[in-house]
Amino acid sequence: MEEERRREAEWKRSETQSEVLDEPTSRDDFTIGIICALPLEAGAILRVFDRTWSVTRSGKRKGDTNQYSLGSLGPHNVVLVHIPKDVEPFEAAAMATACRKSFPNIDLLVVVGACGGAPTSTGTDEILLGDVVISTNIVEYENITYGTNGAGDSEDQSDPSLKISIIDDRQPHPEIRNLLSKLEVEEYREALQDGMAEILSRLPTNKAPYPLALEDRCFEAGYIHKHNDGSTCAMCIDEKGGRVCEQVSRFSCVELSCTRDRHIVRGRSSGENKPAVHLGTIAIGEEVPRSGIERDRATIEAGAMAFDTGLAACVSDSFDRVLVIRGIFHYSDGHRHEMEAWQKYASATAASCAKVVLEEHWVREDEELENFSPGDFGADLGS
Ligand SMILES: [Zn+2]
Ligand SMILES: [Zn+2]
Repeated sequence: MEEERRREAEWKRSETQSEVLDEPTSRDDFTIGIICALPLEAGAILRVFDRTWSVTRSGKRKGDTNQYSLGSLGPHNVVLVHIPKDVEPFEAAAMATACRKSFPNIDLLVVVGACGGAPTSTGTDEILLGDVVISTNIVEYENITYGTNGAGDSEDQSDPSLKISIIDDRQPHPEIRNLLSKLEVEEYREALQDGMAEILSRLPTNKAPYPLALEDRCFEAGYIHKHNDGSTCAMCIDEKGGRVCEQVSRFSCVELSCTRDRHIVRGRSSGENKPAVHLGTIAIGEEVPRSGIERDRATIEAGAMAFDTGLAACVSDSFDRVLVIRGIFHYSDGHRHEMEAWQKYASATAASCAKVVLEEHWVREDEELENFSPGDFGADLGS
């Protein structure tokens, strides 16, 4: 059965591939922008382009200092915007605006890359490393400590009444909401996951293999990634409620001797390594959670499935239609376990998801099939 579905996905993919776009003749022919925060993520997008176009021929608007890569994904000409590492939010917003001016017909911006996730959402979804979260809304929150006598007066970080405060809840454009509603349909979600698996299977094995040699490890929420006994770090030794020093983020679990006794190795019950797609809330905090305790609090109170940087929020001011697609490469608990390999894989799963969604489901408002004949409307979903 599985083999049958794989072959069917392959057939559908080759059908799509045959619909190769004509070479664009001007910057007006580009209708989708993709923005990635890291070169690793941009590389993953380049690998799923059907074709690439010369950026030196397209040119850009006077005053636009951005760097672009151009290509096609199914029926769309796509602009990939290269963002420098650690860019300030206002700079990212300005880059998105400059892109829109150079390519005035872009009406969808897709934010693609990898981020941390919650191992279990408030719903029934179990999220594994390499799975993809497509954002249904973006919640911005800040941590606030509530003591027994009111907000902000508690020194005790383990106080169970600790709360976070939601400062913004961005809902998507109605057209994006409708797209997400379509992707909720089980048949489409399964077809999406099959399509992603097929794309991943065609990538060079040194570019984004499932990290088979590694374990998908999730530590107990209360087991903190911190300086352990024997260290002179007072903040970590006196840690309460998961608040630890900032330095620990530079060290791996091996370097800090995080014990294997306190994690579980996760995997899909089917035994497959095929990434799943989840639709849910992406949370943006003042900083990413540094412990499973912080993460679980945000998961419950903000309904978060994934924890992102502010990039998606700041570019939302430049485009009405923004779709955020994130591969999960850690469990947002501060532990650093083989992060680079998982980040590479999660970037590839997110890029493959973006490719299938755009190729199979994104239709521009003004697009029409001209001179179509019977058969042009072949179903894009198998039996
Ligand atoms: Zn420390
Ligand atoms: Zn650790």
